[in-house]
Amino acid sequence: MLAATLARAATPTAATTATATPPDRRIAITFDDLPWSSLEPRTPLPAQGTVPPRIAAASARLLQALTDTGTPAIGFVNSARLLVDGKIQSDRVAMLDAWLDAGLALGNHTATHVDLHLVGVPAYQHDILACDGVLRPLLAARGLQPRWFRHPYLRTGRTLADKAAMDAFLAEHDYRIAPVTITDSDWIWAAAYAKALDSGDTAAQAKLRAQYVPYLLRMVNYFEHRSIKLLGYALPQVMLLHANALNADTYPEFVAGLRGRGYRFVDIDEAMGDPAYRRADAFTSALGVSWIHRWALAAGWSWNFYGGEPTSPHWVKDLAGVPADAE
Ligand SMILES: [Zn+2]
Repeated sequence: MLAATLARAATPTAATTATATPPDRRIAITFDDLPWSSLEPRTPLPAQGTVPPRIAAASARLLQALTDTGTPAIGFVNSARLLVDGKIQSDRVAMLDAWLDAGLALGNHTATHVDLHLVGVPAYQHDILACDGVLRPLLAARGLQPRWFRHPYLRTGRTLADKAAMDAFLAEHDYRIAPVTITDSDWIWAAAYAKALDSGDTAAQAKLRAQYVPYLLRMVNYFEHRSIKLLGYALPQVMLLHANALNADTYPEFVAGLRGRGYRFVDIDEAMGDPAYRRADAFTSALGVSWIHRWALAAGWSWNFYGGEPTSPHWVKDLAGVPADAE
């Protein structure tokens, strides 16, 4: 911290600061929408079990990748994804047990992926407790308890009063908000990849895999520099990914790329130990932007601070079937 401050005083630009004082690059990886992003209560039932074999295989590949790379991670659960016709399915719960078996953490992401800004505080809290009712016993069976909560859509409250009500509620239930400092549009790439898998277009699959990892590394680099610009040092980042097939098939390459840049993988507890995570956040917009941007706005920076964030190529959005302005 002191070294970073001195380096900042001596060298005015972020780029030269990074060169003069090699940052202590740390990152915590988080996966949202467990047990699997495309697993919905309405997912058509295959002949055996309630998890389509392709999803079960992709989930196993992701866990293998996490184990092989030795990277800690936390998965945020939507408990409604465990249901079919209102009943909890053991083969879906088994996917969460596999996460815990792999030594990974689980957190609460609401039962039905509800939008706080749409439904308001009471209904939102009800949905958090519904997820807690499933997650807490699952963890208690292993002597664990849920401690982290991730807001769907990263919407944290339309008003300061709503934010304060949520802070009090989460504290009362022993949850801490899991922020995100590295946002990205992996869901767009994953939607394109799912379509390429569906159509059997192996060339498109390979092209997506090849371009996706450099895209993720650009996002990490961008937020590393935003951090240095705002704080004067590279904070331990918290990155949002989703449980999907594209991440399952590219995660080892992504990890290798980050390690090549000097990154160490830490758990969310270690990352959140950084004092930056105690900064003021009065953000009430619906935009799901990084906490670095939220802190920057609170510190009086304009929205220009937000400029230059990498975007996904048009061909990926076209293939995914999302509008060109989807991010
Ligand atoms: Zn989510």
